[in-house]
Amino acid sequence: MFRDPRAMRVKAEDLRRDGRRIAVVPTMGALHDGHLALLRAARSAADVVILTIFVNPTQFGPGEDLASYPRDEAGDLAVARAAGIDLAFCPDAAAMYRPGSQTFVEVRELQKPLCGASRPGHFAGVATVVSKLFHITQPHVAVFGEKDYQQLAIIRRMVRDLDFAIEIASVPIVREPDGLALSSRNAYLSSEQRRSALSLSAGLAAAQAGFAAGERSAAALVAAATAPIAAAPGTRIDYAELRDAEELTPIDRVERPAVLALAVFVGTTRLIDNRVLG
Ligand code: AMP
Repeated sequence: MFRDPRAMRVKAEDLRRDGRRIAVVPTMGALHDGHLALLRAARSAADVVILTIFVNPTQFGPGEDLASYPRDEAGDLAVARAAGIDLAFCPDAAAMYRPGSQTFVEVRELQKPLCGASRPGHFAGVATVVSKLFHITQPHVAVFGEKDYQQLAIIRRMVRDLDFAIEIASVPIVREPDGLALSSRNAYLSSEQRRSALSLSAGLAAAQAGFAAGERSAAALVAAATAPIAAAPGTRIDYAELRDAEELTPIDRVERPAVLALAVFVGTTRLIDNRVLG
């Protein structure tokens, strides 16, 4: 396991010199089956799989859960080894952000709506740390989950705009059998809150059913999605929006692929989920 960014980069450069194809899977740890699906996709896309675990302080806002975010590095590394990863990179914040760090990557428009509106600075933190992880791990391919839809869109755009020679692969949302999208933050939920949290996937399913039945009005599809959420105890909708799947711009009607994106507080835990329509 590497903690030092420089040592990791030297290792990655050696692997590339030897002609090995590298896949990286960036995570914040507290690994679950969603992360394992990413690792499997990485395994089938490359010779060497690098897992990164870093709870990135620059993507958390004041009052968010940076201090309490679930951390279990030893457990994660055991799970990851069993899943067949080759290398892990687990830096300390002080090594990633040296005193005087002042450079940030921003994807100007895609970072504005949805999670960017409720979490100012979040995506600049994400784009910056992902750029750094790319430089440090030197991957040919990087794997991200569709659970974080806006994040994936931002990383794809950043890679395109800044000419990173990296292929971005994505993995569909992994869910519990009852529909709840896997998330490290599900660990915060009581059993009652977990029941309420099912309203997110239920809302998305209701919108999908409406869409399949021919509904194309954004307002009607959003209303179908939010009805079960509003009816579940202890929930507060942060946003529920239907936007263009590519540009994340607002739409009135679904005429090309659109994403229905949700962020909902269940108690104090903020959960996100999404579904592409069309
Ligand atoms: P995180 O550790 O939560 O920052 O997530 C690390 C990566 O795992 C991101 O690319 C996420 O989109 C992905 N991920 C998290 N949860 C899921 C899930 N339920 N299904 C698929 N990918 C996921």
